[in-house]
Amino acid sequence: MRMDTVIMGGGLSGLTCGIALAKRGQRVAIVASGQSTLLFNGGSMELLGNIDGQAVTVPLEAIATLPQDHPYSKIGASRIGQLAQEAQSLLADAGIEMDGNADRNHWRITPMGVAKPAWLTLNDHVRIDDLSQLPAKRVALMCIRGYFDQPNAMLAQGLRGLGFEVEMKEFTTDDITALRRSPSEMRATSLAKHLVSNSALQRVADQLNSLAGDVDMVLMPSVLGQNDTTDIHNLQALVKKPLYLVATLPPAVAGMRMQAQLRHYFRMLGGTYLMGDSAVSGTIDGERVTSISTAKLTDMPLRADHYVLATGSFVSRGLVADYERVYEPVLGVDVNADADRERWTRFGVLEPQAYCRYGVATDDQLRCLKQGKVIENLHAIGSVLSGHDAVKMGDGTGVSLLTALAVAHSIKGDK
Ligand SMILES: Cc1cc2nc3c(=O)[nH]c(=O)nc-3n(C[C@H](O)[C@H](O)[C@H](O)COP(=O)(O)OP(=O)(O)OC[C@H]3O[C@@H](n4cnc5c(N)ncnc54)[C@H](O)[C@@H]3O)c2cc1C
Repeated sequence: MRMDTVIMGGGLSGLTCGIALAKRGQRVAIVASGQSTLLFNGGSMELLGNIDGQAVTVPLEAIATLPQDHPYSKIGASRIGQLAQEAQSLLADAGIEMDGNADRNHWRITPMGVAKPAWLTLNDHVRIDDLSQLPAKRVALMCIRGYFDQPNAMLAQGLRGLGFEVEMKEFTTDDITALRRSPSEMRATSLAKHLVSNSALQRVADQLNSLAGDVDMVLMPSVLGQNDTTDIHNLQALVKKPLYLVATLPPAVAGMRMQAQLRHYFRMLGGTYLMGDSAVSGTIDGERVTSISTAKLTDMPLRADHYVLATGSFVSRGLVADYERVYEPVLGVDVNADADRERWTRFGVLEPQAYCRYGVATDDQLRCLKQGKVIENLHAIGSVLSGHDAVKMGDGTGVSLLTALAVAHSIKGDK
């Protein structure tokens, strides 16, 4: 199969790059082996949330101070604002409606009720622009009976700590009670599958309206909208008070919906998404990749002018650690990681962990290296890249979106 570009990995970075290239008329194939880390995403994107443990207010200013090996520095700090705008437009074109601004972080609320700096948040999810001016004072926190993936007491405590007056209310409906026959079915994704018909949404709205009382805002877990936001908008129209969603523990419906929307948009643009297949190896001839083999297309290697590695970090098996070393399993490209295993981790869960910064080595155009030599037509994007730490710096989704767009420009030969 001959393409212009083959992308390995169909998460946020792979899909973003694929969309940007397909929009510009390229024939693109994405090999996508499984769920991505969007499964954990509660509805926000982060450009840069923290430096040295301090919350970042103005990400564009802080990005200019990052070390040379950070992916943003490789792209060029002066391009970040422009790429961030491009990313926001691409998400909107895919139907992902988010508010936010790269000039100033706002605060997203985690499932535990902690406020964290964010760049973009889905416009049906609760967000706070300024902690000294909350969007509402009195809030009804609607808890679904028997649903365990929202730690309600912690969430309420966190919201109170931010200054909200919180009233916790519990509700259920016949549809939700029917799901409870099996405790394993009470997941956000199952609820989202069931809460779709007008009548099911009306029953939820009736409960929320009768329980809300005299509050300024109603909050409920983000358990609606498996494929698009129609059900959320329908419910918001039926509820008499402003209704916003709060992130849940994984599986996160919002993240899965974003993945489905991006995939749908990529296919609409003519892209080929090889779902459930994996890139297993590649052939490198001199300084170029000439083909990629996949687990399913055993006798049909994928050939292209350009290849993009978007296989994610350890959790997605884009990087693998065995007892001896950390390596990249598809092409065996160079990895930046400590050789001494003792240095990979530090005792203490809250300590910065060295392994979080590990990833593939690239030149300043994000091209991969093998045995120190640049592979001219192989770029890396997203969380497979070294030099950043999504957990400590809150830059994971931003790095994925912006490196994907920068590489798409580079492949198209844009200035
Ligand atoms: C637990 C967790 C929670 C997070 N929470 C947040 C958050 O709340 N907010 C935020 O901004 N960021 C968060 N992040 C970070 C953010 O999700 C990621 O930085 C970003 O989405 C990574 O996208 P990616 O496409 O680079 O990688 P991934 O999402 O890891 O996607 C890589 C994809 O490649 C596939 N793949 C791997 N190997 C192959 C192969 N050989 N062939 C084909 N496909 C392959 C994988 O199956 C996967 O689908 C979180 C990350 C984690 C791990």
